[in-house]
Amino acid sequence: AIMSNSSNTAGHKLINNGWFTEISDRHFPGQGLSLKVEEVLHHSQSEFQDILVFKSSSFGNVLVLDGIIQCSERDEFAYQEMISHIPLFAHREPRRVLVIGGGDGGVIREVVKHACVESVDLVEIDSTVIELSRKYLPHMSCAVDNSKVKIHLRDGFQFLREIGDAQAEEKYDVIITDSSDPDGPAEAFFQKEYFQLLNNALNETGILIAQASENVWLDIEYLSNLMKIARSVFQNTEYCYTTVPTYTSGQLGLIVCAKSDTLDLKKPCRTPTASEQIKLMYYNPEIHSASFVLPTWADKLINQS
Ligand code: SAM
Repeated sequence: AIMSNSSNTAGHKLINNGWFTEISDRHFPGQGLSLKVEEVLHHSQSEFQDILVFKSSSFGNVLVLDGIIQCSERDEFAYQEMISHIPLFAHREPRRVLVIGGGDGGVIREVVKHACVESVDLVEIDSTVIELSRKYLPHMSCAVDNSKVKIHLRDGFQFLREIGDAQAEEKYDVIITDSSDPDGPAEAFFQKEYFQLLNNALNETGILIAQASENVWLDIEYLSNLMKIARSVFQNTEYCYTTVPTYTSGQLGLIVCAKSDTLDLKKPCRTPTASEQIKLMYYNPEIHSASFVLPTWADKLINQS
């Protein structure tokens, strides 16, 4: 794993006068997102990263890694549902799913809502995130002990490397990269070799989705470059986004790729049944397609350059 240099991002140092401010000179210079803190619930440095959990006055409990907000109790569903259900409903019959990162458990909670899913491998590098989420984010970590889920406490990049030439039946239908941002242990997930490893780990009808760590308002050139990297491996690559108030600028990009060149990722292949839809608060078939529609300037830079 790539170790983070988190001296500037120690979470508690980012709390001043009762407000936590998320600042990143690399990704969003000149702006910050502040939340009022009611109580610091936990702060420590794990083997891999700085971990802060605090109770905010407006968004419930908030998990912060290396100074960057990972999720808040109030708006987490907007992220977990979209990063999970876009690839899962775009797939005809997802049975084997791999989640890389995701120690808070939110993505797993969504994945096991699909009855057709038979197994989920969760590859999380930092067991502390899993333990703290059980304690402070119980509505997210509720499916971590589900019998379909197998937890691997390891580096996701190494895990993919070791899949090597696995038989087709051991490969995945859907892979979800639910990682932190590229400045810490997740750095390798934003490079070409990672997309090549994902390509190898997917079976012929496979789909992957990765959080892009950026959105069109923050660093569109970085995003446009990341799309080019993904497209150099997967011809069928699309960009969509979800809206999450506690991520800087209020939205987050997601990169979706399919092994098949003919699959239309923008249209769900299956739709939620009435009883499945009741369990969803953000995702529906209309928002699936709408999330791929970009404003004109962003579309030019992301899809036509
Ligand atoms: N929703 C979040 C976001 O977009 O900000 C991501 C949430 S989840 C907490 C991210 C997880 O990725 C963290 O628990 C972190 O430990 C894990 N992670 C980072 N680098 C990793 C690696 N190399 N292998 C496996 N997991 C990793």
